[in-house]
Amino acid sequence: MRAVCVAAVLLCPLVAHGDEAQARRLRDIGAMARFVPDEASRRLRAMEWEMATAPAALRTDFLYHYSTAERGIGDLTHALTLADQLVTYGRRNHDNVALAKGLIGRANTLYLREELAASHATAFEAERVALTTDDIPTKVLATIAAGQSFQEEGNYPEALAKLHAAIDMARHVKDDAAPLASALHTLVQLYLNTGDFDKGWEAQREALAVARQMASPGYIATALGDEFALAVEQKAFARARHALFEELALERSIGARQMVATTLVNLSDCYLKEGRFREAQTYAAQALEAALDARSNNDVATARVNLGQALLGQGHLAEGKRQVEAGLATYEKQGDKPELLAVLREYGYALELAGDYKGAVDAYNRERKLSSEIFDEQRQKALMELQQKYEAENKQRRIDALRQENRATKAELDNRRLHQRIWWMLAIVFGLASVVVGLLYRKVRRANAELEEKNQQLKRQGALDPLTLLYNRRHFQEFMGRTGTERRAGGDGTVGALFLLDVDRFKDINDTLGHAAGDAVLKTVAHNLRLALRETDMIVRWGGEEFLVFVPAVARDGLDEVALRILHGISSHAAEHRGTRVPVSVSVGFAPFPVALGGTALTWEQVVNLADMALYQAKARGRNCACGVLGFPDGAPATLEPIERDLEEAWRQGWVDLSVVPGDVEYSTAVRSRA
Ligand code: GH3
Ligand code: MG
Ligand code: MG
Repeated sequence: MRAVCVAAVLLCPLVAHGDEAQARRLRDIGAMARFVPDEASRRLRAMEWEMATAPAALRTDFLYHYSTAERGIGDLTHALTLADQLVTYGRRNHDNVALAKGLIGRANTLYLREELAASHATAFEAERVALTTDDIPTKVLATIAAGQSFQEEGNYPEALAKLHAAIDMARHVKDDAAPLASALHTLVQLYLNTGDFDKGWEAQREALAVARQMASPGYIATALGDEFALAVEQKAFARARHALFEELALERSIGARQMVATTLVNLSDCYLKEGRFREAQTYAAQALEAALDARSNNDVATARVNLGQALLGQGHLAEGKRQVEAGLATYEKQGDKPELLAVLREYGYALELAGDYKGAVDAYNRERKLSSEIFDEQRQKALMELQQKYEAENKQRRIDALRQENRATKAELDNRRLHQRIWWMLAIVFGLASVVVGLLYRKVRRANAELEEKNQQLKRQGALDPLTLLYNRRHFQEFMGRTGTERRAGGDGTVGALFLLDVDRFKDINDTLGHAAGDAVLKTVAHNLRLALRETDMIVRWGGEEFLVFVPAVARDGLDEVALRILHGISSHAAEHRGTRVPVSVSVGFAPFPVALGGTALTWEQVVNLADMALYQAKARGRNCACGVLGFPDGAPATLEPIERDLEEAWRQGWVDLSVVPGDVEYSTAVRSRA
């Protein structure tokens, strides 16, 4: 067989005409491959030997058309092998036109093998590769393949865009209208799918016009097939039939056996839809014969089903059922469940019309069963897809959640660490601060205590006379300044009194015994005054060898007694200096305090002045003596001035009560003398 072929090729007169003749021959066979694949296949197989050494472009076209023809006659394996050869060749030689054509052939073959995903991926790749070339027909074919893939995926907008792009490109092809006719045919198929009939008709009209222009029976037949499909969808059966008859004639004229079989099936279908069973039977029988001749299994099955239905429609139950069942068996073998379902539905309806109710119920039950099988399959598939999608989404969501959780945990950890650090720092700061504050506090307290002590000391030192440690004159003045105004004559028969003392002949002591002896005498006087007087009495070193005693409370007639106690307290204890006894006496002047004259209380300074004047009287009376103003009798002048001018005279005038207490008189026999 192969030898005969080789011989035929060698003897072929066209070989001699060279490459140009070969190219023309290939183009003719290529146009045939689409519509008359069996004949094209036969002729291409015969060219195999000469094509082995043909130029690249020719070899590319050869492989492409050969693959198309083999696909057309149903040899999908060989079609794929040829397409793959083209792909390999294109890749190896960096020939993108060859590669794109190989990929288109591969995609179309994979589609028929129902490997849709692989088919679509290959079609899209073909389009990508084709668009890198400047071969417009190849670009159009690849873009059509991409558009069909989108249509099969249900992505109609994208499919529409691709097909329009393909048509636009196809209009630029100068010498060949086939790409445009192909693109328009695919567009009609898309509009049939979307139910967009007006646009479908528009595209179909153009396709038919282009095909007639080309005078290509195959393309005209294809456009008429589209006309039938559109008309039947709109129940325009007469027009549909008319198109089919014209199509049939064209197909027969070129020997397109497969197309003839399909057209005859469509004709029987059309009559069945109209209820014209006799005609339906006639064309179904012709269809069956043509399909068997063309070895088109699908058309054989459909022709049998149509024939059966036509027979059932005419009441030939047994023969009708036999034909339908035979057709159904083919569908079952092919596993074409949707087609089977449609046929079972029509079958049941036809049996019911024919009065075979049992058969109708049977068909109905089979349809139900199949329907639920399909439903289950679809549901299972949808469920699985959903589950996969859900699992993928869930996984992503879990990953996202974990990532987010991780981020949150880290942030929280950082936050906690920061908090801890802040707390530690605060604790350290507080600790240090409290230590510092404690130290400072202690220091301040100690300083305060020292200050207080110093103050007390200063106060004491300021208030005391350093030699005698008695209060000094300034302290007494302050004391009187604070309390003098509060002093009132006691209502309980007591009275306050001021005693002013001056050491007798002190200058002599200093002069004879020295200053130190004088100091010793002063200390002794102070000491003895403390002994003679009470704790509550205030003893003040008034200046030099003068002392002041303030007795806050004494019986109104007890002043002389206090004066005498002072005199005795001093004179009875001699001082001592370096083993030498130094006898000491004092003179005292005194007056009650507070005391009033002419209804006015005298100030303490006025009272001290009175006491000083009385002291002068005591000195005048020979020293070691006390002299005191006890009060102002009625008739005394209202002011102190005349009394202060001369106390002696005032006493004589009887303006003052004066008391003289001699120191040498026994304490117990003290005499009060009154002028
Ligand atoms: P009279 O009895 O009249 O008071 O005689 P008098 O010597 O005490 O006289 P006068 O009051 O004039 O003398 C006081 C003397 O006391 C003068 C002064 O030198 C001396 N004197 C004053 N203060 C001190 C002192 O603190 N220590 C010593 N040693 N002598 C003092
Ligand atoms: Mg004096
Ligand atoms: Mg004196």
